[in-house]
Amino acid sequence: MERTLIIFKPDAVQRGIVGEVMTRFEKAGFKIVGLKMLQPSEEHYHKHYEGIGTLKTRKGNEIFESTLLSMQEGPVIAMVLEGVEAVSTIRKMVGSTEPKSALPGTIRGDFAHVNYNQATTTGRAVANIVHASADLNEAKQEIDHWFKKEEIFDYRVVHEHFTQPKS
Ligand code: GDP
Ligand code: MG
Repeated sequence: MERTLIIFKPDAVQRGIVGEVMTRFEKAGFKIVGLKMLQPSEEHYHKHYEGIGTLKTRKGNEIFESTLLSMQEGPVIAMVLEGVEAVSTIRKMVGSTEPKSALPGTIRGDFAHVNYNQATTTGRAVANIVHASADLNEAKQEIDHWFKKEEIFDYRVVHEHFTQPKS
């Protein structure tokens, strides 16, 4: 089983759509193994977005700095989900980074519509509801960065009846 990190960004928390989005992951059968609200420091986001996510290297300092500021606008909800190929399947459910380009049916396509240009000219990160780990390596590093070992729980859900070997 894979684990991946989801963050409900300040725009999702402030719009009151966390429950609705979380339901999508539960309905798809992903198991919530960690969940908490927090308002991390700039240093925490620096490591998340550059140390692990290489955002400054990939997209430049302006977008990096505006992303750090946008993420500090309020509390976020961090969640660890577990499931079969959770990392890539959840990225598919989340959709493209830019809501304008995200397909209908994806979280970013259904709950937002804004584009890079509009966001960048207002000095903001494009508000796209959730963060989701991009690959398995990023997921492992991000979960270690956001959660202590004792904040991750091991329990059974009924879906596992259908993913475990037949007895
Ligand atoms: P993600 O993995 O799909 O979230 O995309 P990235 O890791 O490339 O970027 C991290 C976050 O930075 C995105 O979710 C956006 O909030 C923000 N961001 C990325 N690219 C841009 C951009 O071109 N313009 C603006 N305004 N924000 C961006
Ligand atoms: Mg990313």
